Amino acid sequence: MNSHYADDLATFMAGVERRNPNEPEFLQAVQEVAMDIIPYIADKPIYRDLKILERMTEPDRIVSFRVVWEDDNGEIRVNRGYRVQQNNAIGPYKGGIRFHPSVNQSVLKFLAFEQVFKNSLTGLPMGGGKGGADFDPKGKSDREIMRFCQAFMTELHKHIGPDTDVPAGDIGVGAREVGYMFGQYKRIVNRFEGVLTGKALEFGGSRIRAEATGYGAVYMMEEMLQHHNESIEGRTCVVSGSGNVATFCVEKLLELGGKVVTLSDSAGYIHDPEGIDKAKLAWVMDLKNNRRGRIEEYVREFGGTYHEGEKPWSVPCDLAFPCATQNEISAEDARMLLDNGCRGLSEGANMPTTPEAIRTIQSGKTLLHAPGKAANAGGVGVSGLEMSQNSLRLQWTRKEVDEHLRKIIRGIHDQCVEFGTAADGHVDYFKGANIAGFNKVAAAMIAYGVM
Ligand code: NDP
Repeated sequence: MNSHYADDLATFMAGVERRNPNEPEFLQAVQEVAMDIIPYIADKPIYRDLKILERMTEPDRIVSFRVVWEDDNGEIRVNRGYRVQQNNAIGPYKGGIRFHPSVNQSVLKFLAFEQVFKNSLTGLPMGGGKGGADFDPKGKSDREIMRFCQAFMTELHKHIGPDTDVPAGDIGVGAREVGYMFGQYKRIVNRFEGVLTGKALEFGGSRIRAEATGYGAVYMMEEMLQHHNESIEGRTCVVSGSGNVATFCVEKLLELGGKVVTLSDSAGYIHDPEGIDKAKLAWVMDLKNNRRGRIEEYVREFGGTYHEGEKPWSVPCDLAFPCATQNEISAEDARMLLDNGCRGLSEGANMPTTPEAIRTIQSGKTLLHAPGKAANAGGVGVSGLEMSQNSLRLQWTRKEVDEHLRKIIRGIHDQCVEFGTAADGHVDYFKGANIAGFNKVAAAMIAYGVM
């Protein structure tokens, strides 16, 4: 970035920081986008005059509310719930709900901001939003989860609707939680409508929705490799996380001939040099979805090693898939990946790579790096397809949905190449995704006039 743009970026960020003090994750997400957009709009006065980027960083609204529920011991518990409705220029707000003790306004604003660009990239008519609560589902009984979800939806239902805002799952929110929330919404409004995605098949869910984010992250890797005449087959893969995104990422990697050697959770990671095969993966899915156990139990069952309190990035690999949480790859981790000859990094998680790590990777130009807003857009893409199926009162086959998913990811890859390719042929997937995502939302905002 030349010094003129650097000054513009500093001025812009100073304004954002003044309006959003103590929100480091949100500022990080905005800075990552602004670094690409400010040079891009330098010769496009309409965007600057109409303050499009400034308006995009200001959420349409944020709702925050008390969630009161009773635990199994009869104690009253109080949590805070949120919905950030960031931007609905191109469609109803759309984005997941996260239940995790780390949830706060900054985290949800970063996720909602990213979601605007991601949803735009899918080519589907969806705006961006995100919600959640600082509720920790770990160690809670099924009934406690149900009571929490019902209490959460009792307030949230006032702010959402199939043409207004359509939430989905995220960390700590899977099919079980979506079921409880959808049931409560339906009970309150007395309408059966597509207000949530990620529903079970029996009540309006889409095939491949559960798989879509993990599969999509692998399809994105496949696209990047194919663009360079390479493939996934025979490559050693390191995956973090062991939840929804991670496990379906592993499933697709195995299908395409990859060898996966790690998984993790918030306590540590397992390394299985023999490779995690289909049977071992089925065991992990049961452990996480039904028995709600810890990943360290894997080594007692199958061998390998467990590394408490560590992340898997020091394990030599060809391809890396961060699928756990934000800022899980530091500059030091990025350096290890590069030193070990890692060729591709596809972000299943949102913003898993710190800004320093991104710079470290970009300086090398040897590692193909897809940002979360491109690589994990398969999840919201299939959520968009779930909305279409709900409106049509139809359910498509697995094959049909998978074909749509592949097409969506291919479209995103093509947009990244179109807007991110430098004169020397190097593709900056961050820049490509940011500019392509921005263009469509900006065009709609301009059409609406000043508001
Ligand atoms: P899950 O709750 O199913 O799984 C999350 C996994 O990440 C668990 O293994 C969890 O470990 C681990 N994890 C969570 N927080 C931390 C932490 N602070 N440090 C280390 N590990 C952690 O969530 P998902 O798989 O749905 O989401 C994973 C990522 O993918 C998130 O960044 C999410 O925003 C993103 N994403 C998800 C989409 C979806 O469709 N679900 C769509 C697009 C993006 P533990 O069990 O110990 O907490």
